[in-house]
Amino acid sequence: MTTPTRHPLPGPHAALIDVPLRLRMTPPVPAGTFIEPWREDREPTAVERAAMRRDGGACRACGFVSGEHQLAAALDGNRRDLAQTVTLCPFCHQCLHLDRVAAMQSGVLILAPEVEQAALHHMVREALVARVLGGAAAARAEALLAALLARRGAAQARLGSDDPAVLAARLAAAPDSEQDPAALDAMRADLRLLPLPRRLVRKGNLLEDLLPPMLGFWVSVDGPYALKNLRTLPWLDEGLRVFAPAAIDPAVSAGELAPDPAAIDPTLPDDPAGDGPPPFMYTADPDDRFRFLLHRRLPDGGYEPVGEYRVIDVTEPVGVTKSKLRNLLHLVNGNEHLVINIGQETKTRLMYQFRKIGDKGAVRIEFSTFDDVVTTKNAILALNDGVWDDREPAGADPGT
Ligand SMILES: [Zn+2]
Repeated sequence: MTTPTRHPLPGPHAALIDVPLRLRMTPPVPAGTFIEPWREDREPTAVERAAMRRDGGACRACGFVSGEHQLAAALDGNRRDLAQTVTLCPFCHQCLHLDRVAAMQSGVLILAPEVEQAALHHMVREALVARVLGGAAAARAEALLAALLARRGAAQARLGSDDPAVLAARLAAAPDSEQDPAALDAMRADLRLLPLPRRLVRKGNLLEDLLPPMLGFWVSVDGPYALKNLRTLPWLDEGLRVFAPAAIDPAVSAGELAPDPAAIDPTLPDDPAGDGPPPFMYTADPDDRFRFLLHRRLPDGGYEPVGEYRVIDVTEPVGVTKSKLRNLLHLVNGNEHLVINIGQETKTRLMYQFRKIGDKGAVRIEFSTFDDVVTTKNAILALNDGVWDDREPAGADPGT
């Protein structure tokens, strides 16, 4: 057994980091129990909300602070005991629920004794953020993620499988089995749960992937990795140093992390119908590359902002986002033959949910993609009062 490097963990609430991350189940379930995909859509209880307020949104196991998408866990299984209920990030939370990881397809076991579990979470988070950034940062992220995935083989050699459910079953059987608990502990000590970029939970009859919206919040202006403020990714650098030193390119400077505004069309240049300036157009938000403002033409020829389009699935390729925005402009510009047809590009179908806000004319349209198994929230179009004139979206195929 190698002693993992102790990394100073970040966050203003670092003093609160007091939950040790041992891969386990809370509470343990008997071997052979069927675990169905987890429903994560329940509202947090009053105790859980109080715990998250008390901890300031900081994960008590790794120190990661986020205003949204954190979870609460009752360490002793008693959901009414505030003292035993702690805030955890989704990566740390799933370490305590190994049995559910297989159902969520959200992690695999790797052998990585060099780093502590909590440090691994920071490395993977920064790698996922770097993939959103694109360019050199994304290439470095791919190198780290590939090096980490390559450690699965060693976990298979150690445990016989890289499936967290297998470890969960071994742990559940431990009290009754011949297995030496000390040997089991030693084996577990070098294993790490590598978070994968998906988190499938059951919503009704469908599976929904919660990871893209989570990543979207992390990189949003309110998120812990607001792209505008992002200058360095120290955990990605450290991960590469430990796991893939050959992939480190000293030529990549921190300045390259800044998002490239030119990656997105600043405006829709022409009226799709070709009859002069279009009634509606969009502009990119210079501070948030996943937000676009919709503008309506005024009688004097200028434009006023009337709504916004927000990309939720930040893993969507820029070209696909542009196609969708163009299609939406056709819709709001009164094109009677709107076809939201992006299926060829994404191998998925696009579904939407249309919602009026209050009794006013403001509307909110939520788009999701569906690949026959999993739905992923994709984007939200919000239009101010009076913009949407109750036309049904003619010709639109809701894909249902
Ligand atoms: Zn955490």
